[in-house]
Amino acid sequence: MNPPAKILLVDDMEENLLALEGLLRKDGLEILTARSGALALEILLTDEVALAILDVQMPLMDGFELAELMRGTTRTQHIPIIFLTAGGPDERRKFRGYEAGAVDFLYKPIEPLILKAKTDVFLDLYFQNREIIRQRDQLLVSSEENARLYKEIKALNESLEERVEARTAQLTDANEQMRGFTYSVAHDFRQYIRNVNTNAQMLLQERGKELGQDKEYLEQISSNAILMSKMTNDLLSYARIREIELSCSNIDLTTLCLQMAGEISGQYPGSTFTVAEQMATQGDQTLLRIALQNLLDNAFKYSQRSENRLVEIGKEKDAFFVRDHGIGFDEHYAQKIFQPFERLSSGSGFAGTGIGLANVKRIIERHRGKIWFRSQPGQGSTFFFSIHAECA
Ligand code: ADP
Repeated sequence: MNPPAKILLVDDMEENLLALEGLLRKDGLEILTARSGALALEILLTDEVALAILDVQMPLMDGFELAELMRGTTRTQHIPIIFLTAGGPDERRKFRGYEAGAVDFLYKPIEPLILKAKTDVFLDLYFQNREIIRQRDQLLVSSEENARLYKEIKALNESLEERVEARTAQLTDANEQMRGFTYSVAHDFRQYIRNVNTNAQMLLQERGKELGQDKEYLEQISSNAILMSKMTNDLLSYARIREIELSCSNIDLTTLCLQMAGEISGQYPGSTFTVAEQMATQGDQTLLRIALQNLLDNAFKYSQRSENRLVEIGKEKDAFFVRDHGIGFDEHYAQKIFQPFERLSSGSGFAGTGIGLANVKRIIERHRGKIWFRSQPGQGSTFFFSIHAECA
């Protein structure tokens, strides 16, 4: 709430003061009274006054003298003054101080309505002025606050880049350490698994015959160890494929597939294969080997119990394909097979890690190519892939 405005009434006659006070009293207004110029000056030292109503005819210090003293001090210079005088209009000339602040004259006998009206005008001006000052101060505060905020934001922006760089370096470092750790754990793990398998194989060879029923357990240990070793390899590849730089060359796909399919088919008695002639592409031979290995492994593996165990490797338009006539799958459920660990055939007795196709997809995508399939349960599957990598 706003503090009340103060009016100073100065008159040597107590009854005049009382009458004026009675006339002007209203809410939001505090009336200060003084019976002499000296007392009025004392009040002006401590109180902020909106308007002074001075009786001109006073002993010792008259109203004009008081007014001139008020005009001489910065603090009271601009207080509007209403003089109350019993003299005529030429009284006005006696006062020097019109430039500094508003001045008005009322002649006795005072007309109450006119005094009230003039007082109200000065009070309105005072209130407006006070509001303007309040708004100015508020603006000052908010512009100071804005300037402070602007400075703060600027400083933050300037340090942001540095902080991002520092954080990125930290993260890269942590990532590097993590990767190193994962690789070394994976390598050690792979070695231990190999040892388990080697030992199991040695036992099978040396004591297989004596073991009788227990031989099966040993064979299971061995095949699980092989699967775990494959899974570790696949996971290591999955991480590496995204990062390693492609080492591009011309690849004779026909020769490569003949050689690879020859090797893999050896593990699947009764399986055969055909490879189309003159298939060539450009790309990273090591990565494409991994992709083909997975596609061919799957084709032989998932057709090994079917009647038709032919695996075909060929080309249709711009896409290469690997086709089998094995168990196939329902395309409807197959949207996730390119994600790691997604297997449709778990429980069907085909060993696998579920990472192979995820690796194939990453490799094909690194060659700016695409991979897709056609399959039907019991009718076999065809995996197509395109390659758009070109050697510089
Ligand atoms: P997995 O090690 O299980 O073979 P992949 O990532 O190579 O893992 O394949 C994911 C899944 O896709 C397999 O578990 C299998 O269900 C299905 N799949 C892949 N290739 C074939 C295929 N030629 N015939 C039938 N199913 C396949």
